[in-house]
Amino acid sequence: MRAADIQSDITDILLTEDEILAKLEEIAAQVTADYEGKDLLLVGVLKGAVMVMADFSRALPFPVPIDWMAVSSYGAGTKSSGVVQIRKDLDTDIHDKHVLIVEDIIDSGLTLSWLLENFASRGAASVEVFALLRKPDAAKVVVDCRYVGFEIPSEFVIGYGLDYAEKYRNLRDIAVLAPHVYE
Ligand code: IMP
Ligand code: MG
Repeated sequence: MRAADIQSDITDILLTEDEILAKLEEIAAQVTADYEGKDLLLVGVLKGAVMVMADFSRALPFPVPIDWMAVSSYGAGTKSSGVVQIRKDLDTDIHDKHVLIVEDIIDSGLTLSWLLENFASRGAASVEVFALLRKPDAAKVVVDCRYVGFEIPSEFVIGYGLDYAEKYRNLRDIAVLAPHVYE
């Protein structure tokens, strides 16, 4: 689905599919150079990172294994607390692997900082992060993120894997959700 199909649910198209894909090519070129000769494993965080992983991994010009984790973060209400529970663990032993975590968005950064520590304790050779989007204003903890696609303002965005109440993940673009949808 395209932004035009849900015009009344959004206030602004932040990034078009073409802009996203061009950025993924750019970052894929950097990752290709940085990981030359290294045993790279991509780890996606379900469910938001599914679209990023699909397009980013295919932009890489070499074979690379892909694994997934599902986590849930508990706290007061809808706010991330940093208390993380693993819903689905990795299938892969990451010992001595160079892990690149692929994420849709960094908001508070609490979930990701927990994951970074968790992976380091499993003996990964290195753990880095690629986040397609980052909201810098909201950062509660500084997450060392090696690759960032776009810095965006602190607005609630949907599409390209990002949801509101499990909806809009299948939007091709990234758009700002209209307040009347959640108010
Ligand atoms: P945090 O960095 O621990 O706060 O958690 C980030 C997670 O919150 C992301 O992986 C998303 O699933 C979700 N999230 C944060 N901001 C947005 C947004 O603007 N739209 C949709 N999901 C979001
Ligand atoms: Mg997510």
